[in-house]
Amino acid sequence: MSRGAQIANRVETTMNILRITRQKWLTVLILLGLTLVARNSAYGQSAERPEPSDWFAGDPHVHGGIGCGRSNETEMLSPEQLLEMMKVNNLAVISVLADAGNGEIKYADQDLGMINGQDNAVSTTQRIVHWDAEWHYDPQGVTFERKMIGGHLVLLGLKQRGQPFAQYTHPIFEWAKKQGAIAGFAHLQYLPFAFYPPPDGIPQSLDCCAPLEYPVETALESASFLMEDVHGSDSALQAYYRILNTGFRPGLAAGTDYSCNDNEPLGTLLTYVRIPDGRLTYDQWIDGLAKGRTVVSRNAHNEFLDLKVNETAQPGDEIRLQGHGPVQVRVEWRSLRGDLGRIELVQDGSVVASQTAEVAPDSPAVFETTLTFHRSGWLAARRMDWQTGHRTHTGAVFVIVNGAPIRASAADAHFFVNWIDNLLKQTSAGGEWAEFLSKDRQGAQERYRKARAIFLRREAEARRQGAP
Ligand SMILES: [Zn+2]
Ligand SMILES: [Zn+2]
Repeated sequence: MSRGAQIANRVETTMNILRITRQKWLTVLILLGLTLVARNSAYGQSAERPEPSDWFAGDPHVHGGIGCGRSNETEMLSPEQLLEMMKVNNLAVISVLADAGNGEIKYADQDLGMINGQDNAVSTTQRIVHWDAEWHYDPQGVTFERKMIGGHLVLLGLKQRGQPFAQYTHPIFEWAKKQGAIAGFAHLQYLPFAFYPPPDGIPQSLDCCAPLEYPVETALESASFLMEDVHGSDSALQAYYRILNTGFRPGLAAGTDYSCNDNEPLGTLLTYVRIPDGRLTYDQWIDGLAKGRTVVSRNAHNEFLDLKVNETAQPGDEIRLQGHGPVQVRVEWRSLRGDLGRIELVQDGSVVASQTAEVAPDSPAVFETTLTFHRSGWLAARRMDWQTGHRTHTGAVFVIVNGAPIRASAADAHFFVNWIDNLLKQTSAGGEWAEFLSKDRQGAQERYRKARAIFLRREAEARRQGAP
């Protein structure tokens, strides 16, 4: 074999080895890819996310119409564009809300026509795009002929379009319920933060969106959830805590209200919902939201708080104790980015334990402790930031002692009695808000009185339990 032939031979051998190796590598890569695809499609999510596989991140408050931050646009966002916009925060679900209210979103008719109870055709195994509606009439701000003080409702799971109207929210809840849909109050962040009494957090003036009927329709079990949106705020939590303290269990939700949020990406505020069997469908997702199986984030899809009580109970679950006793609490703060913050445990509205912690993508922070419940109550975890308040917050886990109902605060029950007294006074003839109930005063005030009686009864029950 000549030197040239030897070289040629060696080159060919090397090439063959390389070819074999390349083939092997290709096989390995294809198998790896298939494994990943199989894993991801089973969970309906892609790999880069801080939450466990049975939790699904979504934005239940998105608008694609022309208004707010899109006032100068000429076209509604298409389903394809919305699907693309979900990728920024790797969302599994979005609820695209048509304007079932005053029609401030242009071409609302076209938007309403998209509601059919089905996932939009662009949806994939990983991402659900689903049309639903927001019902809203502002008393101030964007005003039209019809005005409303009750608050904006997010209606999820509608089967068909509609533009029902009443001067109070209850008939709208009923309209949604008849279709098998759920509904809740948006914009909890616009409520005043009760810090300096008086007026101690009871709205005395009107704005575009504050949900003035949230205590009424939560107490009368119409509202399935309370939502913070746009940029969120801790006053939403205060409202949530007070409602939990009086024994009601609405889900806690968060969404962007895109494009009314300075056009920040979808999912900048988001809701994680746990679906116990890990199979994502829109119905399962909103059902979990109504059942309180949620964690909300104001830090997009970057972090998650995993709360477990007595090892297995998670947000929305209930633990029953015979006699008062301790519960074991474990919180894991997982983050896709390095961060420093504080994990806090909230029991019946008060922070009872906390730990400052640092996280990195592969190193979550774990906080474990024991809490004692002397009477029925609830607990939740939150991750706080020194400047901006809560970044993530879990839904509550309920702890029932000796079968007694949760009456954790007489003061909070009394707060709602005062709230409704103010509503009744302001909306009665001669009151400052009387015009808003010009047609439906009787129906609305009947609801107010019914709810007031419930809070009054619960105040007395809380005192009997020895609650503050
Ligand atoms: Zn709204
Ligand atoms: Zn909205």
